[in-house]
Amino acid sequence: MIQNLIHDLSLFSSEKISSTPMNSTTYRTNAHSSPHPSTFFPELGKCRTMRDLKQVHAKLIKTGQIHDPLAAAQVLRICALSEPPHRDLVYARLVFDQMPQPNCFSWNTIIRALSESNNEEDPLEALILFSQMIQNQFVEPNCFTFPSALKACARTGRLEEGKQLHCMIVKYGLDSDEFVLSNLVRMYVMCGVMNDAQGLFVSSVEVENSEKRREVGNVVLWNVMVDGYIRLGDFKAARQLFDKMPQRSVVSWNSMISGYAQKGQFKEAIDLFWEMQMGDVCPNYVTLVSVLPAISRLGALDLGKWVHLYAEKSKIDIDGVLGSALVDMYSKCGSFEKAIQVFASLPQRNVITWNAVISGLAMHGQAKDALNYFARMEQAGVTPSDVTYIGVLSACSHAGLVHEGRSIFNQMVRVSGLEPRIEHYGCMVDLLGRAGLLGEAEELILNMPIKPDDVILKALLGACKMHGNVEMGEHIAKRLMEMAPRDSGSYVALSNMYASLGRWQDVAELRLKMKEMDIRKDPGCSWIELDGVIHEFLVEDSSHPRAEEIHIMLEEMSNQLSLVGYRPNTTQVFLNIDDEDKENALHYHSEKITVAFGLISTAPQTPLRIVKNLRVCHDCHASLKLFSRIYNRRITVRDRKRFHHFENGSCSCMEYW
Ligand code: ZN
Ligand code: ZN
Repeated sequence: MIQNLIHDLSLFSSEKISSTPMNSTTYRTNAHSSPHPSTFFPELGKCRTMRDLKQVHAKLIKTGQIHDPLAAAQVLRICALSEPPHRDLVYARLVFDQMPQPNCFSWNTIIRALSESNNEEDPLEALILFSQMIQNQFVEPNCFTFPSALKACARTGRLEEGKQLHCMIVKYGLDSDEFVLSNLVRMYVMCGVMNDAQGLFVSSVEVENSEKRREVGNVVLWNVMVDGYIRLGDFKAARQLFDKMPQRSVVSWNSMISGYAQKGQFKEAIDLFWEMQMGDVCPNYVTLVSVLPAISRLGALDLGKWVHLYAEKSKIDIDGVLGSALVDMYSKCGSFEKAIQVFASLPQRNVITWNAVISGLAMHGQAKDALNYFARMEQAGVTPSDVTYIGVLSACSHAGLVHEGRSIFNQMVRVSGLEPRIEHYGCMVDLLGRAGLLGEAEELILNMPIKPDDVILKALLGACKMHGNVEMGEHIAKRLMEMAPRDSGSYVALSNMYASLGRWQDVAELRLKMKEMDIRKDPGCSWIELDGVIHEFLVEDSSHPRAEEIHIMLEEMSNQLSLVGYRPNTTQVFLNIDDEDKENALHYHSEKITVAFGLISTAPQTPLRIVKNLRVCHDCHASLKLFSRIYNRRITVRDRKRFHHFENGSCSCMEYW
């Protein structure tokens, strides 16, 4: 949901505003029109709200001064283009329609206001007015009219009208005006005609180069192109253009960073954010909202804290959106105390903020607190969304709260009237399955109106393994293999189930099948952030510069484990190999390598925060509990499903994961 918001923000990000500003003071003054009207009507210049304006407007009508075209134009400008909430387009339209002979300035004002309006029908209305304007013999469109008309085409996806505008622009000789040109290119980009946009862009850059105007360049135009490639999903082309930019504005950086973050290229997003710090462009609100999800996903707490501090220092408004992103970041980076602190300090909380804190608590296994916040949310009069229910239900499933989960699921359907999605069914199947209610879980899947996906079947398969129900497990695994024959997950789960029962013959057959079909396991991968740098380790990894020291540390760690009498649980190893080899294979799971690296790289007692792409295996879980006591460290592991806080020999998940 936050990603959607970022997307919306990038559409209206600040620099795009500076090319088509909302704020009248930064708007290019209309050189073709008369002197600024407030010079003649100082009272209008003082209007701050619609109420002020209506009073002055009434006075102008009474005294007949409204017949002065300058006065009417100024009234129109204030109600059409003031910052929201002080603009009133309905009123503006009334004022405009009553002008006997609106001048060019007034036509431009109303067309611009309609083209920028959030009301869906207004951009089309802007185009209708534009066509009336060109038929009007007293006015002619100019370099201020076309950008607004182009924007209306872009927003309504009207390519044909856009092309007609392009012809007119050439006819009027305005095709070299930077402001017109960048809006023209943006129109092609938004209508999905990247080739035409590219053609215009290349020829304009050639003109720039030949005129030696490179030192300035049209940053807006470059940004439009970068944004266009990102929209198309062509990150290579976007990045190439970005790297070549003669000058970059904050919008250039924001487009690239939020593009990477939305595409799931979190490391690239963060690297670029670092690079931005080296330059002379400062991150703004949009930058922070864009980079925070990437930080959350990678669990880079130090960087996240830095962003929070930066926002406070730079007096960036921590509103509902940025606040929710911070709450989400702190809880996903393992610091849910801080998440709650930020949550409590926010002046306004919307449904996204509540969702962030509830799903954060769920991930940390704080089910009771999650339910508490859910109750508080309802008391505060905020209506839970379907995302809220995913958070609460997964909290119940992480804590085995079967009774609460059932009643919340019913509340969602009966009271809120929300249609459960596959994710909600997934939480319920997970909850029932873990609690050993395999029959009820299976029945839920059979009776739901949606087709089961692999996630939900895997949840049930995991439960079958947990409770040793081989019959149901085999049946579900077969279904999964039919659904997604290339997915290693079902093979691995079934094989682990056979292995835990010592059915090595079945394990071997399954492995053979995987080999024949060339299906490989997802590689396990863990990472840790030290001083803002992410160190990543794969299973049995020896590529790190400090690999040798890490290896020595791993040996010492396994000695320590034997000293406290730990015997590895070898059933987790996929292969039917000798016990000693199995034990070795276990030592090199990526989370253990990461812990070893963390232990040798940080001062004693420093907590270690690790993120893992898969679920933690039983052996690693048991070992990590012991490591937390042996080395006196708090170790936090975020696996694919949830958080584990290991401290003094035990884990916060209470073996529920
Ligand atoms: Zn493991
Ligand atoms: Zn745990």
